[in-house]
Amino acid sequence: MDDLAHGTRDKRGNWRPNDALGLPPFGGSDFRPGAVAKWLLGYLTGWNLVFLAITLVWWFVLLPPMEVMSNLSWGWPLRLLAINFAGIFLFYGAFELRFYAMRRQERRFKYNGKFPAEQPSDVFWFRSQNLDNFLRSMFVTLPIGTVIEVLMLWAFAAGYLPMTTNPVWIAVLIFAAPILHEAHFFFAHRAMHLPGFYKWCHSVHHNSINPSPWSSMSMHPVEAFLYFASLFWHAMLWSNPFVVVWQWNIAAFGAVVGHIGFDRMEVTEDRAVQSHAYAHYLHHKYFEVNYCDDGMLPWDKWFGTWHDGTPEGDRLMKERFQKKKARSRVAQNNAEVPAE
Ligand SMILES: [Zn+2]
Ligand SMILES: [Zn+2]
Repeated sequence: MDDLAHGTRDKRGNWRPNDALGLPPFGGSDFRPGAVAKWLLGYLTGWNLVFLAITLVWWFVLLPPMEVMSNLSWGWPLRLLAINFAGIFLFYGAFELRFYAMRRQERRFKYNGKFPAEQPSDVFWFRSQNLDNFLRSMFVTLPIGTVIEVLMLWAFAAGYLPMTTNPVWIAVLIFAAPILHEAHFFFAHRAMHLPGFYKWCHSVHHNSINPSPWSSMSMHPVEAFLYFASLFWHAMLWSNPFVVVWQWNIAAFGAVVGHIGFDRMEVTEDRAVQSHAYAHYLHHKYFEVNYCDDGMLPWDKWFGTWHDGTPEGDRLMKERFQKKKARSRVAQNNAEVPAE
């Protein structure tokens, strides 16, 4: 496909789409029922449907019955760790293989003109973003997340947490889980950008200015804990173990979405699907914009940190950074005013 029919490429090879990033059609003055219906359809299908399908397989095929999970032994938690490891390895690996190893799409629709493998750097273990990010995602963040998942499943199965079997409430929780994830991530992420916190913790994730699939869960252990702490909300929600697994899968499998690095994924010669990676790509590029995951809810718009990916978005961002600088020349933080 011709990506220049849908965007522009600068002299450094960085590609940007022509269209501004859209926000959900509510929370502002432009509430339109038709647009809300369209948003709802996208919410119920797309990526969420993929993660729900994975969760159904996890719950009905791979996970042991509740009686087994009521006993905190080594067997089933290690099995869950192995299942999560294999699932994430195959899922992230599929994107890595197609777009970064085999480069089946070359640089078409790629936001950053370079591939991480072309940019060795001392900030990464073994000077390799790929190896560093792979090891951190798979051997730091994934096990920490799985420990939280195991504890929550055990607490429900053993009767330590109030559990619902009401199908209507379970359906409500299933529907709300991606929204809960986005809200939890927005505020935890915002906190991690406080200057001191950023430096010793979240900067690990931001070493990857040019993110790729293995960057998805490349985190400091404290960030890993905070990221999967979204599961703890279910202790207060009269929830259910199935929903806990669903919440975990949204966080773990869903993390890849913002780190694909390509705006569209070509399916055939003349057909491509939207990746929804742009909002979080801009966060990796500019740091202090788009703290949300992929803009499922307009949190950044509400808090004044939204960047819609257009030159006008650049201008508003620079204006905001300059105002911030003027307000506090002393506490210069990690934000950079990007050069043209
Ligand atoms: Zn990221
Ligand atoms: Zn960040």
